[in-house]
Amino acid sequence: MFDALSSKISHAFSSLRSRGKISVSDIETTAQEIRTALLEADVALAVVEQFIDRVRAGALELLSTLQPGVNQAQAIFDLVNNELTEILGGGARRVRFAKNPPTVIMLAGLQGAGKTTLAAKLAKFYKDQGDTPILVASDLQRPNAVNQLQVVGESVGVPVFAPEPGNGVGDPVAVARAGVAFAHSKLHNMVIVDTAGRLGVDQDLMREAAAIRDAITPDEILFVVDAMIGQDAVRTAEAFRDGVGFDGVVLTKLDGDARGGAALSIASLTGRPIMFISNGEKISDFDIFYPERMASRILGMGDVATLAEQAKKAFDPDTSKKLEDKFIKGEEFTLEDFLEQIEAMSKMGNMGKLLGMLPGAGGMKKQIDNLDESELVRTKAIVQSMTPAERRDLKLLNGSRRARIAAGSGRAVSEVNKLVEKFTAAQRMMKQLRGGKAPAMPPGMALPPGMGAGLAQMAPPKMAQQPPKKKSRSGNPAKRAAEEA
Ligand code: GDP
Repeated sequence: MFDALSSKISHAFSSLRSRGKISVSDIETTAQEIRTALLEADVALAVVEQFIDRVRAGALELLSTLQPGVNQAQAIFDLVNNELTEILGGGARRVRFAKNPPTVIMLAGLQGAGKTTLAAKLAKFYKDQGDTPILVASDLQRPNAVNQLQVVGESVGVPVFAPEPGNGVGDPVAVARAGVAFAHSKLHNMVIVDTAGRLGVDQDLMREAAAIRDAITPDEILFVVDAMIGQDAVRTAEAFRDGVGFDGVVLTKLDGDARGGAALSIASLTGRPIMFISNGEKISDFDIFYPERMASRILGMGDVATLAEQAKKAFDPDTSKKLEDKFIKGEEFTLEDFLEQIEAMSKMGNMGKLLGMLPGAGGMKKQIDNLDESELVRTKAIVQSMTPAERRDLKLLNGSRRARIAAGSGRAVSEVNKLVEKFTAAQRMMKQLRGGKAPAMPPGMALPPGMGAGLAQMAPPKMAQQPPKKKSRSGNPAKRAAEEA
């Protein structure tokens, strides 16, 4: 979402870096460029002004204190990074758990903001951490909201308290109160209450939300807001803060291509932290909001921390260990390993989103947008149609075997040939890398074990990290297959 902002800020810094010695007027130029970029991204004017004032003052102070020879541009970049992190709320804040369970979380926001979807995402997030959440259907206004909550609740295996049909029928305050009592009696340690929104801020909405708040005294009221609605996000946030009050913000639809900067102003303008973000419709499109990681993405440094976390979740420890051992021993990376990697990577989610977290991703936007996810599915089908021995030794693949694999996977023989060709080239390249020609990865950019080799199939060759090794094996393909089977 912040691609344009990110590339403009990167541009401002590359001109600053090209200066030998930075002057006061260089600082002014950079400050103005960043100011324009932020305003174009829809960040609220008051927030931009405050930010630029601080950056300008900090940078001028740095100029007067830095010793000659110290990289001034880098110091200013670090300053901007810190200030941006501050604007975004400083550090990440987690949900405060009640001393006496259940912890009550109330979701508030306009209709269509993504509250119902978020209820399920939050429930899943906490369930995975060993909590026992329950969802309460207090949105009795929006058509089908109760049913939708039941469906998403079921999809994440979390119970839903829904005594009323909704669609205008039932008392949302009574449902919320009964839901919390039910959670208490069934020893759930967390209750997430979905409430009704309206199309715009109105008195009815505020009254209902405030009445629910008073009935259940939530430990956290989370204001859910669609980042794509621009400056309205800020106005709605202020109206909710004054009408109902909230403790934290959840930004949704960060996957959209609208400017989104307005939403980033919310933390600064309301004094309430952004706690979670949602960047897609799938349950897995959800994360804790880390101001420093967002700042890093906006400044074009990617979000390697999130990427590594997701990889850690997706790669089971045994597979990672096996690949790591292969790496250390210098054994050949095979299509069997590749298949395991494709499977782990599909668990990590959308490839475009993953690649978008790499440093400099802004500059690869076109390639990332053109990434064909279905190619991964097709590749997987081809590899799955091979026998284990074939996956381990591509030389076994004579014409008739290739024809069989093509038929088995429903792909053309030419696609099988292409995959074999690409993979053989990748193996050859890995051998060269092992010969000491590996490009140095920038600090913090090392990919999780084994992942680099998998990415090598889709990305430019320089991403591979896997070193193969010579191993004495039979030159006869059939004999070798027997050895290896
Ligand atoms: P509610 O009225 O606040 O309960 O909103 P819903 O949870 O029903 O969400 C409204 C629509 O937005 C649904 O179609 C959701 O699938 C979609 N949605 C929710 N969160 C996201 C998100 O992060 N990204 C995208 N693209 N769509 C979302």
